Amino acid sequence: MSIQSIFVISDDLAALNEICGGVKAMAEKVTAVVFGGRDTADKAASCGADKLLYCPVDDEGAPENYAAAIADEVKKTGGAAVLFNNSIRSRCLAGILGVLLDTCVLTSVNELTEQDGELVYRRMVYGGTAQRHERFAKPYGVATLSGGVFEPVTLPATGDIAPIEGAPAAGIKRIARAEKKEGGTNLVAAKRILDVGRGLAAKEDLEMIRALAKVIGAEVGCSRPVAENNKWLPKANYMGITGVQVKPDFIITLGVSGQVQHIGGINKSKVIISVNKDKAAPIFKNCDFGLVGDIYKIVPALIEKLS
Ligand SMILES: Cc1cc2nc3c(=O)[nH]c(=O)nc-3n(C[C@H](O)[C@H](O)[C@H](O)COP(=O)(O)OP(=O)(O)OC[C@H]3O[C@@H](n4cnc5c(N)ncnc54)[C@H](O)[C@@H]3O)c2cc1C
Repeated sequence: MSIQSIFVISDDLAALNEICGGVKAMAEKVTAVVFGGRDTADKAASCGADKLLYCPVDDEGAPENYAAAIADEVKKTGGAAVLFNNSIRSRCLAGILGVLLDTCVLTSVNELTEQDGELVYRRMVYGGTAQRHERFAKPYGVATLSGGVFEPVTLPATGDIAPIEGAPAAGIKRIARAEKKEGGTNLVAAKRILDVGRGLAAKEDLEMIRALAKVIGAEVGCSRPVAENNKWLPKANYMGITGVQVKPDFIITLGVSGQVQHIGGINKSKVIISVNKDKAAPIFKNCDFGLVGDIYKIVPALIEKLS
């Protein structure tokens, strides 16, 4: 027996494709919900959902204004799982949907499986030291899924595309728009990642890391303090239980100690290679290949050898 109905709501096309692809086999009907006009919906059709609804958010509006319309659509099913990607906007909307559907919200789910016709959600708790498995005891369940929960798959494009019924309840009006200055790195989709930790002594030394990244075709990510405290890289670039969860072909950690909260974001990588000058660093218990040494000697040597 599979789940009757799953809604996948996303403000990011790659995440929409990933989640729809992952849950398609779990539910009798998967409905995708996107924000934008018909052109956005046509681009999103590659997600392969059985049905695709688009919320035509106008230039002054916000996706949250469609919360009631989405909830009405979900309520027509009599029982459904409502899954969001884990962006800030989606988490806001998930909270509103939780209220409108009279259910609770599970955030940052890192594994979703079907057991005996029910969805089982797994996520990290106690600062990443334990995993909790949960099910919803109510007809509706709302959850946000971390990136990388499912492997991307290609499905036949959705043919059933329609605007959502119901007008937006204009609670939020956009008064200005500014281009995002930081970011641009898609760590979730990256095949190779260099992971910089506090072993890096100065912001300028990121140039050395970027040079190695260029040589091996990798993206640069980091531990939380490098982004949050030092502000040397955008917050979107830090990995861990409160950051991005990645699964590249390989990741090289450079001066990362390997605390559990960081490991929770990188432990789905196929191969973990670690460089740390402290041979007792916990990272060496979590990597496939470890190198005890100074990143200031090893990184330039790698650039020279691999160039
Ligand atoms: C609730 C909670 C959530 C958290 N979530 C996250 C999260 O999502 N992601 C995250 O990253 N952290 C998170 N943290 C923080 C986490 O606990 C660690 O503090 C953090 O991951 C440590 O970052 P680091 O390894 O870069 O720094 P450090 O722990 O300071 O490690 C630096 C390492 O660099 C090595 N080193 C120094 N110099 C060199 C050199 N020249 N060459 C080689 N090695 C060198 C040192 O031996 C050391 O092992 C969270 C903490 C809490 C409490």
